[in-house]
Amino acid sequence: MELLRKGLWRGIINEFREHLPEIRDDAIVTLKEGNTPLIEARGLKDILGEVRLLLKFEGLNPTGSFKDRGMTLAVSKAKEGGGKAVICASTGNTSASAAAYAAKAGMKAYVLVPEGSVALGKLSQAMIHGACVIEVRGSFDEALAMVKEITKRYPVTMVNSLNPFRIEGQKTAAFEVCEHLGHAPTYHFLPVGNAGNITAYWKGYKEYRDKGMVSSLPKMMGFQAEGAAPIVLGRPVANPTTVATAIKIGDPASWQGALQAKQESGGTIDMVSDAEILDAYRLVASREGIFCEPASAASIAGAIKMKRHGVLKDGDTIVCTLTGHGLKDPDTAIDTSTKPVRVSANMGEIIDVMGF
Ligand SMILES: *Cc1c(COP(=O)(O)O)cnc(C)c1O
Repeated sequence: MELLRKGLWRGIINEFREHLPEIRDDAIVTLKEGNTPLIEARGLKDILGEVRLLLKFEGLNPTGSFKDRGMTLAVSKAKEGGGKAVICASTGNTSASAAAYAAKAGMKAYVLVPEGSVALGKLSQAMIHGACVIEVRGSFDEALAMVKEITKRYPVTMVNSLNPFRIEGQKTAAFEVCEHLGHAPTYHFLPVGNAGNITAYWKGYKEYRDKGMVSSLPKMMGFQAEGAAPIVLGRPVANPTTVATAIKIGDPASWQGALQAKQESGGTIDMVSDAEILDAYRLVASREGIFCEPASAASIAGAIKMKRHGVLKDGDTIVCTLTGHGLKDPDTAIDTSTKPVRVSANMGEIIDVMGF
């Protein structure tokens, strides 16, 4: 607990060093990621009943998503090994994070993104940080397959979550949840795309349990989007579709990790529709004051679905990870919200709109 109350947070590598792979001090590349808030959400009781709902808002990381936790370690390790360049395939947030950490490290970043499927904010980040952005006319899965080939042949380090240091860094979010609560939650809900994050959280929870930091484990509840639900269907999806572009993935790299988290924890991997995702997205924004990106809301949509199915009980402690910040994808916010009302510079018209 002490850790999180310290005035000067030093980033996840320094704060959780004894739980992470060894790394040389002078190789550490950090933007002070981690230490994100776990926010009590009381505004959804009419839907979720008397559960204790907490939102782990990972959108408040330096580049606006949880990817920074893994990227600090992956880029630091690349730097330690004398690497000069990193590469990733990305639905957006990995590329934003890789670009920022590579910039900080003085390294080159190459990012492959599926053309037309990356939210504007994420693309702008990769560009402003000076990454070489390559838009591939194809899917994320195709881009990732090419990244794997490229790293076999050329001197660039892959920083997708197939890089084990990504998972190691990301597991620290589970540590923070345990330290904030003083125990593990009953359920942990997450969106699932490439499935690295659910794999990482489960590893983190198990390690804290094994080290006696907490005595129980949560049930891991992963949610895919209906149009991109390979794990639920039990087969890859060739042309995934969903408004939640961060989880628009048809053949997840950490498929086995997700299944293991589900099986070992007694949890589930299920799916929610785009309509359910967008409802949850607007709900958490309008009732809790938290603007997350659409994919993030799959965790809340999942909790609502599980409540409907009678799985959640009053008194349960439920953590939903909100994986990324809503400003990443302003287009979806504008498309799915009530439009501004246009008036002339006239008091009467304005008061009329205000309804007084
Ligand atoms: C990457 C990402 C996901 C999916 O995480 P995986 O580890 O690929 O399952 C979900 N939401 C956001 C905002 C992301 O950036």
